[in-house]
Amino acid sequence: MPQILVVNCGSSSLKFAIMDGTDNPPILEGIAERLGSEHSAITFKYAGNKTVQPLHDNDHRGAVTAIKHWINSNSTLPINLVGIGHRVVHGGETFSQSVVINPTVLESIKDCARFAPLHNPAHAKGIEVAQALFGDLPHVAVFDTAFHQTLDADQYLYPIPMRLYREHNFRKYGFHGTSYRYIAQKLATLDLDFASQNTLVAHLGNGASVCAIKAGKSVDTSMGITPLEGLMMGTRSGSLDPSLLAFISDAENISMKDALDILNKESGLKGISEISNDCRSIETAQAAGDDRAELALNMFASRAAKHLASVATNLESVDHIVFTGGIGENSPVIREKICRRLAMMGVWLDLHANQISPRGEVSMISDNRSNTSIWVIPTNEELLIAQDTLSLIADTAPE
Ligand code: AMP
Repeated sequence: MPQILVVNCGSSSLKFAIMDGTDNPPILEGIAERLGSEHSAITFKYAGNKTVQPLHDNDHRGAVTAIKHWINSNSTLPINLVGIGHRVVHGGETFSQSVVINPTVLESIKDCARFAPLHNPAHAKGIEVAQALFGDLPHVAVFDTAFHQTLDADQYLYPIPMRLYREHNFRKYGFHGTSYRYIAQKLATLDLDFASQNTLVAHLGNGASVCAIKAGKSVDTSMGITPLEGLMMGTRSGSLDPSLLAFISDAENISMKDALDILNKESGLKGISEISNDCRSIETAQAAGDDRAELALNMFASRAAKHLASVATNLESVDHIVFTGGIGENSPVIREKICRRLAMMGVWLDLHANQISPRGEVSMISDNRSNTSIWVIPTNEELLIAQDTLSLIADTAPE
């Protein structure tokens, strides 16, 4: 069976998985971590076994070389790579769908780095080393922003001088698009009327956003020109009065960029709880009676509900609400707090179904009286990247 190597390059990590484009679990998966440091290592998970190897060549090239070496030295395994799919965070206005990577595409990915300086340069590096080492295979880029290119101008523009959009492309782009597209596809298999329906999706992980989907298309989302806008997140503040940036910079005597770092890296659940950015740890502290943990969870849920209600103004009805991402899939506490705040929309949670929702599986958690079907759907961005890569390869293959 043909397979795709899915690659997700960060600045100091590289996640990978070999997938066949079906619901089958990855044949091989793993992560290279702490790239650039002397402690860098790569983990391979195959058939339930985990092996960790130190990476002597501790950069992205070293990581991809190690993957290639692992595949070559396990040549008896049923691995049949036909392409490589790369996750790319920012595709700007250039990319409204996944594309086969050629030199022009690679240049455009590098151009989009001004809006994603931590992500796009690492993706470009990953693509270059993968092309050098797997030069005989086609490479495909799948963009987190692409799904939201269907937003209307009245949603994607910021109310700032138009000149700034015309001259600099300053606008809302939105992220988590690969996850939202996966959820839309999955929901279409669960409710055959999905194509004509309206859906709210809450992708709640360390990064968190919401999306309104109308007839399969994104019509509004909470993240903006960068992933900082919208919900409170693990370490990001989400939306706030922009004047605060200048106040923080003046009061702390730091640059605007350092003040922005506080909003990106020291805020959110971490900033309020003063415990952790990790929802599980905060829930444990809350259960033990910690007030700041309780406050952090309430703020997180309240902001998520507010943004769900806000993007819902672009829909005529709300037929489905979907929870996904590490928190959305695994935290009954947060789901309950959010749904309670959406009662005015006729959202009615089945408290028992919410509590017993099985990990890693699709489940419906709404009460019969609810106007809206409430779902937990585990996301699978890697699968969508593998599927896009397979279908683009099939489209471009010579007759
Ligand atoms: P992600 O970024 O999608 O991998 O999600 C990571 C977040 O999911 C972290 O805040 C985790 O604490 C949270 N998470 C994972 N499992 C649970 C759980 N069982 N209960 C609460 N939060 C969880």
